[in-house]
Amino acid sequence: MINNKILLNPIIHNGDILTVALSNDENVKIKALKYNKFSMNCPYHNDRHPSFILDRNKNTFKCLSTNCSKNGNLVDLMSQIHQIKYEDCLVILYRVLNFKYPYYYNIERYKKIIIKLKDIYASEQYKKLIDESNQKTLLHKLNYQNKYYN
Ligand SMILES: [Zn+2]
Repeated sequence: MINNKILLNPIIHNGDILTVALSNDENVKIKALKYNKFSMNCPYHNDRHPSFILDRNKNTFKCLSTNCSKNGNLVDLMSQIHQIKYEDCLVILYRVLNFKYPYYYNIERYKKIIIKLKDIYASEQYKKLIDESNQKTLLHKLNYQNKYYN
């Protein structure tokens, strides 16, 4: 069910892998390459030189290190970075991007995770990174959503 391509489509087409990557940690360094691609240290292995390539057009990533070779999409990346289950990430991204998740999902579970995530996205460091990248952010949308739960 959750690997369904149709379920992923709205996220792939409307999400932004760069904002997910920027929430990695306060020391995250992202370098712009050509063709809307970016490089950073790989969050899946101990990477001393940036081997991890983000493709912002496709919202996918791949690690060029031969020992790692991880690849995936922004939902996979969010799951890895925040140590949140894949389906939970999918639900959060559906809500953040204003799509209706088509399956049953426990709202209490959602609230707990969004509160945990908000700490990350509300950090000063993250705001600074986002300001610098001048992008529409998950942060604003998460803040907007949290109005419902305060
Ligand atoms: Zn890697």
